[in-house]
Amino acid sequence: METNTGFMKALKCRECGREYPLAATHVCEFDFGPLEVVYDYDRIKRSLTRTVIQSRPQSMWRYRELLPVAGEPTVGCQVGYTPLVKADRLAKRLGIRELWVKNDTVNYPTLSFKDRVVSVALSRARELGFSTVACASTGNLANSVAANAAAAGLKAYVFIPSDLEQGKVVNSLVYGATVIGIRGHYDEVNRLCAEIAGKYGWAFVNVNMRPYYAEGSKSMGFEIIEQLGWTVPQHTVVCMASGSLLTKIHKSYQEFMKLGIVGESRYKIHGAQATGCSPISTAQKAGLDFFKPVKPNTIAKSLAIGTPADGFYALKVMKETGGAAEDVTDDEVRDGIKTLAETEGIFAETAGGVTVGVAKKLIASGQIPQDASAVLCITGNGLKTLDAVVGHVGQTREIKPSLREFEALLEKDNKLINA
Ligand SMILES: *Cc1c(COP(=O)(O)O)cnc(C)c1O
Ligand SMILES: [Zn+2]
Repeated sequence: METNTGFMKALKCRECGREYPLAATHVCEFDFGPLEVVYDYDRIKRSLTRTVIQSRPQSMWRYRELLPVAGEPTVGCQVGYTPLVKADRLAKRLGIRELWVKNDTVNYPTLSFKDRVVSVALSRARELGFSTVACASTGNLANSVAANAAAAGLKAYVFIPSDLEQGKVVNSLVYGATVIGIRGHYDEVNRLCAEIAGKYGWAFVNVNMRPYYAEGSKSMGFEIIEQLGWTVPQHTVVCMASGSLLTKIHKSYQEFMKLGIVGESRYKIHGAQATGCSPISTAQKAGLDFFKPVKPNTIAKSLAIGTPADGFYALKVMKETGGAAEDVTDDEVRDGIKTLAETEGIFAETAGGVTVGVAKKLIASGQIPQDASAVLCITGNGLKTLDAVVGHVGQTREIKPSLREFEALLEKDNKLINA
């Protein structure tokens, strides 16, 4: 048993409030409710101020009191503090006054927001004495577990649906992890992993380590507030797989307000899904508190979870903050990717296309007013999902290495423009 638990107090059931020791465990024994980390906010308030945060290195760990490790982090110490880009050209294209892009396509080391959650989960796994880590993944999580485990000298088993994009598969294999492709959807991968986690003494980052893992997502929200000059954005658009990131961005805004790091502010958090896997947005649009599980069929594979673990809580956050949800077709996802790339020079993966496509819809429908300011959470890098856009982004113009051919090409283009 640990004696020092840092700023953490216990794990607590979100349903009945029963408390549990800070071990590798994730569900309540009485009602199967999910467990969540409880902190000592009085002590945190005495330790964490704007000045203290600003004096620390630019990584997600500058907010370490609000992240669930007992001592100093040992894995992923350089993760986070990705750019918040003022996206004027995208704002103009989508018809809104002010827009910001939180750009996790360049997160360290594996180019997605998952480096945040993995950094926390593996640091905590080490504190709890694990030497083998594992995960059930739609792709990015597998990449991040594989890379961060390699760098930390931990053994890694990653489980993915066998039909993932090449980019995601190669990005797990290269680090030497054992990659297991399951012939089935993510939900089946996840079910198998729950069985394996119960049987082997491994730290499954999103199963038995989930209470710690999920807290890592808060760092994206903390950074947004700090990078906006210590203000909470009026509107935040977040894509949803399990729905966890959306709920944790809400929690991060709440914690900064509770600690007095920012003043009380009103804000709306909006959820984005792909139409081919939209259990949460479908429920939100129908005004329901519960979602109906679906069988995923979309190019946005990183978001393809048909039975989202935090779907219920994501719906609650949207309702409480007055946020909306929308979903977009595969063609709209590709449009979203292209729009972001052409206006801001940022190449996002399919999940980013979902966020941009949904933002466009919410602005057009007035659910995000034209005179408002919004932040789009762009969570993964386009180089990993090339399969989704090949053949949809135009093609190379091929010529011989001759000036004459080049000039003929230019002349043809000019004729087309003038015609
Ligand atoms: C995992 C993931 C998300 C969202 O995950 P949640 O399960 O909803 O927290 C968003 N974007 C990308 C690229 C992801 O890999
Ligand atoms: Zn309970």
